[in-house]
Amino acid sequence: MRKKITQNKKTVLTRLTSFLIAGSIIAAPICAVHATPTATQKNSSASSETTQTARKDSSASTKTTQTIRKGSSTSAKTAQTTHKGSSASAKTTQTTKKSRRTSSKSSLTKITISAAGDCTLGSDIKSPASVNFYAKYREKKNPSYFLKKVKPIFKRDDMTLVNFEGTLTNRTTRAPKTFAFKGNASYLKILQKGSVESVSFANNHCRDYGEGSYRDTIKTFRKQKMPFASYGKTTIYKTKGKKIGMVAVNGLDGISSSKNYIKSGLRKLKKQKADLIIVSMHCGIERTYTPNADQKTLAHYAIDHGANLVLGHHPHVLQGIEKYKSAYIVYSLANFCFGGNTNPPDKDTMIYQQTFVFQNDKLKKTNRIKIIPCSVSSSSGINNYQPTPATGKKATKIIQRVNRYSKSLGKVSFGKNGKIRSY
Ligand SMILES: [Zn+2]
Repeated sequence: MRKKITQNKKTVLTRLTSFLIAGSIIAAPICAVHATPTATQKNSSASSETTQTARKDSSASTKTTQTIRKGSSTSAKTAQTTHKGSSASAKTTQTTKKSRRTSSKSSLTKITISAAGDCTLGSDIKSPASVNFYAKYREKKNPSYFLKKVKPIFKRDDMTLVNFEGTLTNRTTRAPKTFAFKGNASYLKILQKGSVESVSFANNHCRDYGEGSYRDTIKTFRKQKMPFASYGKTTIYKTKGKKIGMVAVNGLDGISSSKNYIKSGLRKLKKQKADLIIVSMHCGIERTYTPNADQKTLAHYAIDHGANLVLGHHPHVLQGIEKYKSAYIVYSLANFCFGGNTNPPDKDTMIYQQTFVFQNDKLKKTNRIKIIPCSVSSSSGINNYQPTPATGKKATKIIQRVNRYSKSLGKVSFGKNGKIRSY
């Protein structure tokens, strides 16, 4: 394990030093909130669909899979999916990753979570055919291409979580909206090859080809053993003997329905003895750098009800980080592996990393946080859908931006190395 970590560190450094980015061009709108069904319609259909799929799956549960993570050479990881709960409401997936590091040495357990923003694996069919995500996938013929530059970072953590913004479907009835995303089910391999262990799936693009496309995508997650949280469907991911619970809501559907999902999700996860709870929220206004009242309301609500970390997305650009009652809120993680725009004008993004420390099964109050500045593309003039750690001045500039945006939210700020320096 140590050897592995050292190797990975080296890889990161090599990548960091070899990367250079310039500015960016052309502005284009990104992900419109048009023509979505009403909150009630969406939500009620969402939970019933989830239930149906869960039932189907539960017959074929307890299958052992080869995990997603490449870094498992020394740790023989096993994923086990079990659908719990017999009520007609939301089901919970439990995923286990066994690690030899689950130590008997001390009562101290450290869990490092990495979080990144919008991953749209696919494109809008109206996007330029020569440079869209489909073209890149065809050109590279290798799902590992996309997260290659960030995988060394994701491999070293205990769980990586991204926002899955789009659908995996073959359906052809595109929702009447400005942007609608779909990709092939095989694209999920991109995340698996990149050492991403879980996704949030509650956003304004998860039904871009109708309710059926939402179901298709979930079916693929289940089939490929990708843990996901979506509206009333919560997830528990197990690592190092700890249970990481996840809830995902779409604040754009309405604040009160999202609050209900958060409240019931947290209650359920606590009942299942989750050691740590992460709430993902899709909320805010696109291309704005400050959170709006809805984002703050939902994030504070989640922490008031017991969330240990809130991860935000939807603005497609970075926003600040707030410490609220000893938990952190990352208001917007921006785009990440984002097929929704062939050349986003603002390519700055980051990986947010937090290490949670348990002593004798009790979560300690710590502030072990780091942001890793990145660009959504390894090419400055176009989106080549390959998020890449930033270096040098570019990295400093991104950290400074996050500091600037965080200033109005409290005391959080990060040093040059990306580590938190005040909170
Ligand atoms: Zn969105």
